[in-house]
Amino acid sequence: MENLRPRTLAEYIGQEDIKRELQVYLSAARARGEPLDHMLLTGFPGLGKTTLAQVVAQELGVNFRITSGAALERPGDLAAILTTLEERDILFIDEIHRLPKACEEVLYPAMEDFALDLVVGKGPGARAVRLKLPRFTLIGATTRPGLLSAPLRDRFGIIFKLDFYDEEALARIIERSARILGLEISEEAARIIASRSRGTPRVANRLLRRVRDFAQVHGPGPITREVAEKALELMDLDPLGLSPLDRRILLTILEKFDGGPVGLSTLATALCEDPQTLEDLYEPYLIRCGLLRRTRKGRVLTEKAYLYLKAPRDSLFF
Ligand code: ADP
Repeated sequence: MENLRPRTLAEYIGQEDIKRELQVYLSAARARGEPLDHMLLTGFPGLGKTTLAQVVAQELGVNFRITSGAALERPGDLAAILTTLEERDILFIDEIHRLPKACEEVLYPAMEDFALDLVVGKGPGARAVRLKLPRFTLIGATTRPGLLSAPLRDRFGIIFKLDFYDEEALARIIERSARILGLEISEEAARIIASRSRGTPRVANRLLRRVRDFAQVHGPGPITREVAEKALELMDLDPLGLSPLDRRILLTILEKFDGGPVGLSTLATALCEDPQTLEDLYEPYLIRCGLLRRTRKGRVLTEKAYLYLKAPRDSLFF
């Protein structure tokens, strides 16, 4: 599959405030010949955390090593990676909130003193040995910053929260991806796809690929507004970019729970879906659209959700 990931900061679209700030830190680190300070990236899935971490490595001209909190089971797994890093390398740990406690403890001295504390031997003869590590940069990414322990969070010198993208930025991402894929696309078509992309570059690229399939099957020619609209209709996405499951979530809260409040696990059971998936992938966008609210008692539909559910599907009433 063609690689749509931007490689440099200039190619990375949107997130202007973050880029401006990051540019300063990158220049300073480069000028001093030092590693960049450890960086935490938070934000919903598909907003570009991994991409940004790769861009940082590219901009600094250093190696990029990638792993995930879920893949690191024992302290030894992490130690094995740390000892093979080179000076100023980027170590990227995705889903860092899933890192086991024992691994987290290996990270503390590694981040602070670039040291690895090992216990050699067993029983009464065991002794602690401190290994020196190269000065590296840890970039952690998480969709759930609230689950990070305070000591870990405090060890990141730079913290960025990636936000949803506006339509303008998404349209530019779609136009860039179309160029890479060798597609001709009208500005209007890019905008329409952007408007259904849930503020998320990963969704924008996925929709573009589906529209490409549609265009290919329905004859040659550029992707026009009509082609894009027909393809999106086929996918059953409404003008807000809501999918059938999004609508089912709202309808279930309305019909089975009187509009809420309803707890996440009760709702997930009623929908036959996994609570984590609902919370991480579906709720954030519904909340962002102002259709759903999280309260202490559970999920509640908003006034806007009632209007949305009553309105004819193809109307643009927002
Ligand atoms: P995350 O790590 O936050 O889940 P990714 O970095 O994997 O998200 O991004 C998902 C996809 O979206 C990438 O493959 C990339 O092609 C695209 N993408 C993300 N951010 C941008 C951006 N700022 N500009 C252009 N494309 C982007």
